[in-house]
Amino acid sequence: MAKKTTAKKPAGKKPAAKKPAAKASAKGPKYVYTWGAGKADGNGSMKNLLGGKGANLAEMTRINLPVPPGFTITTEVCTYYYDNKRTYPASLQAQMEAGVVNMEKIMGTKFGATNGMPLLLAVRSGARDSMPGMMDTILNLGLNDQSVLALVEATKNERFAWDCYRRFIQMFGDVVMGVQKREGEDHDPFEHTIHTFKHEKYHGDVEDSKLTAADQQELVKRFKALVKDRTGKAFPNNPWDQLRGAAGAVFGSWMNDRAKVYRAKYNIPSEWGTAVNVQAMVFGNTGDTSGSGVAFTRNPANGVNEFYGEFLINAQGEDVVAGVRTPEPVLKLKDAMPKSYAELLKVRATLEKHFKDVQDIEFTVQEGKLFMLQTRNGKRTAAAALKFSIDMVKEKLISWETAVMRNPADQLEQLLAPIFDLNEVKKATVIATGLPAGPGAATGKVYFNADRAVQAAEKGEKVLLVRVETSPEDLRGMIAAEGILTARGGVSSHAALVARQMGKVCVCGAASLEINYDKKTVTVAGKSYGEGDYLSIDGTIGAVYAGQIATAPSEIIAGLLNGDKASQATEKFKSYVQLMKWCAQATKLSVRTNADTPEQTRQAIAFGAVGIGLTRTEHMFFEGDRIDAMREMILAGNLADREAALAKLLPYQRDDFFGIFKALKGFPATIRFLDPPLHEFLPNSKEAQLDLAKKLGVAVEKIEHRVHELHEFNPMLGFRGCRLGIKFPEITRMQARAVLEAAADATKAGFKAKPEIMIPLVGFKKELDLQVEIVHEVAAAVQKEKKTKINYSVGTMIEIPRGALTADEIAHTAEFFSFGTNDLTQTTLGMSRDDSGSFLGAYQESEIMKKNPFASIDQTGVGQLMQIAIEKGRQTRPDIKLGICGEHGGDPDSVKFCHKLGLSYVSCSPYRVPVARLAAAQAAIADSKK
Ligand code: ADP
Ligand code: MG
Ligand code: MG
Repeated sequence: MAKKTTAKKPAGKKPAAKKPAAKASAKGPKYVYTWGAGKADGNGSMKNLLGGKGANLAEMTRINLPVPPGFTITTEVCTYYYDNKRTYPASLQAQMEAGVVNMEKIMGTKFGATNGMPLLLAVRSGARDSMPGMMDTILNLGLNDQSVLALVEATKNERFAWDCYRRFIQMFGDVVMGVQKREGEDHDPFEHTIHTFKHEKYHGDVEDSKLTAADQQELVKRFKALVKDRTGKAFPNNPWDQLRGAAGAVFGSWMNDRAKVYRAKYNIPSEWGTAVNVQAMVFGNTGDTSGSGVAFTRNPANGVNEFYGEFLINAQGEDVVAGVRTPEPVLKLKDAMPKSYAELLKVRATLEKHFKDVQDIEFTVQEGKLFMLQTRNGKRTAAAALKFSIDMVKEKLISWETAVMRNPADQLEQLLAPIFDLNEVKKATVIATGLPAGPGAATGKVYFNADRAVQAAEKGEKVLLVRVETSPEDLRGMIAAEGILTARGGVSSHAALVARQMGKVCVCGAASLEINYDKKTVTVAGKSYGEGDYLSIDGTIGAVYAGQIATAPSEIIAGLLNGDKASQATEKFKSYVQLMKWCAQATKLSVRTNADTPEQTRQAIAFGAVGIGLTRTEHMFFEGDRIDAMREMILAGNLADREAALAKLLPYQRDDFFGIFKALKGFPATIRFLDPPLHEFLPNSKEAQLDLAKKLGVAVEKIEHRVHELHEFNPMLGFRGCRLGIKFPEITRMQARAVLEAAADATKAGFKAKPEIMIPLVGFKKELDLQVEIVHEVAAAVQKEKKTKINYSVGTMIEIPRGALTADEIAHTAEFFSFGTNDLTQTTLGMSRDDSGSFLGAYQESEIMKKNPFASIDQTGVGQLMQIAIEKGRQTRPDIKLGICGEHGGDPDSVKFCHKLGLSYVSCSPYRVPVARLAAAQAAIADSKK
């Protein structure tokens, strides 16, 4: 999602494009938006049209920060490009020419000049949201054999000029002309050419800065030959051919594999498209008074309010993140370039004040003068998000509602993730240290390559991906790994970036690690570890340990569930509690839990659940020797035998419910009656059947026969749910008695029990009628026997389409509906969840469905049935209570959807309760802002 960054300007969902487009000249719609010298066509709210980078370059220009001039080719051109067989709208060229003229005026240079200072360009991609590593930037565009001489002449800096030209050919050759590593090649061909040259001339790997102008010139020659050799084409000399080629490559890269993988993971629709930014170059590589850097206005790993980043003297931007040279911490800029540093600190403050959020910036200093090249809301870990949001409320920069919105619900679980057990860590040996790039604890088997890491993870192994440094090709492996460890790279390296974004535990730049990809070993302090050996990393402090280390619950879990005082005193715990207080203040939708035991109930209540939305009674039948009584019941040949067996189960169930009521402290509990097909309770193996026969004193054949009898071709659609209670009413009777007796006992013992009895799999009103009649009968009897009134209600699950479609009829009997979205999804889609693994991947890749419908509600299909059921249910019973108890209850998007539908609660597993609470609060806040 495009984040709203500007507070004042309307951040409309519709691209502001439409208006200017309508106003555009007779030549056609406006495709090019310029900025420079304090003026900009666009602004920060126009991310849909200009992409994130373009919109913010315009915004920074408007607030008078030093931004080199340029223009953005809109995302509409990208859409046009793909809709029209990769061609451009006719009026684009003229608009680009006007954009170039604007830059020439401001810079006082000329594009393609062979005399005087030539205008050189950076061609930069820019989707709405940054997509790290996905799109490639081309710098120094506009150079050719003639203009490079003009550059030498104009700057009197021969080495610099040829360095620029060499870089340009390398980037353009790679990105636009496709000169890349071939299958079987270990090295990038350009890097290989440099390597070979250095060894020929210097007999070793000298630093790039040691290369002379003549060396760079020689490399230009070799690079051109390489391009010719690999592509059969000459390197383009005409600057406009270069510019069109570069822009096309940016649009083209929107559909490359890496971009697609990334979009699939983050649910970014391909229709969004990318913009292209064309910007005048400024030079960080002119000498020791120049440099390039990247920084965050606050620490994005742990949230501390400190300037955080790195820079390189005498370098162009890509060098900082490429890991070729090790950058310096940005704080050292204070000594290296005090004036620029002071200016940068001012910019830091201005940006935070203006964007009201932590910014991730890119800058270049050219001969002492600072230029801003990018700003965006910084990606952050969950821990940092929490601290930023709490701190910024204190600083009166944002409201508490904004603070709630700033904590991504789907990242909240990171805060609950385990940390290393303190006692275990004391015993462990630190073998290396690096930068703490992604907080948390991870233990796993070491793998040195993404493919093998993925394979191992697929086999269920816990994996640590260990690389010298990572690159976008490693993305799949990073997703599969528990943690990422690199030997090289700083806080803005690819590994750190991705880890922050995905919430992976990460230690990067652990320089003492010697990684040998060929031998598949990592050696440190004289000891080697191979693939499959265990290492552990702590991404909160940057430590690497030998072996496996046991983990312990996070401070939040320890504080909430175990009442641990030390944990409760931590800042993290207190911040979490504050956040949840705000959530409670905002929310409309309450959060219940799915719990089958008193322990789970207690946990969920500690997390803030206000009741149980689903207790699955069948789980209770598996414990201890209850299963024997259950099996006896199933094997019984007549009513009397069945009732005898059920009578044995009754006290167990009653005790269970009593325990749950006690743990609930007066909150309501929705209790679902027996749901799964009976054969699930019978033993399948011959051995187990013999065992059971002996125990029950029956012939094994009888058991075999019954198993055979109960066999179903399609159990999900078979003899289950209320169908069991219809055929065997005595089961319903026993369960009703257990619930209601427990409720009566609990009430007597002083906890107010509020059972909500839920009949599953109802498609016909009559099914429910029959079951409810039994419940009421039993209730009357129990109340009389126990001489107490029980506060109970009876309702149903809406989980098959017929139930949803006839909800008006069903609501005559049902006092509440709970959407069982697991089965409702299976029956609406006609898709078995357990069998969907074999094709769902292909479905998602083909974008038939954007998300797994069993994890996130299919809002168009299943959601529509829910809507129908709600409307019809309310026609009959206006105040009918509505909830949801499928797995979807813990999925942020589904929770937001439930808020929209006007449900009164969602229910999810205990550990998902905080996530659901946050999502519910966010839905309410977003609603109130409309
Ligand atoms: P990415 O999206 O990969 O960060 P950018 O378009 O931001 O790509 O470009 C990468 C780097 O190239 C920037 O960090 C910056 O240092 C350098 N760069 C981009 N534009 C310019 C420019 N106009 N002048 C000098 N360097 C630039
Ligand atoms: Mg890049
Ligand atoms: Mg950038």
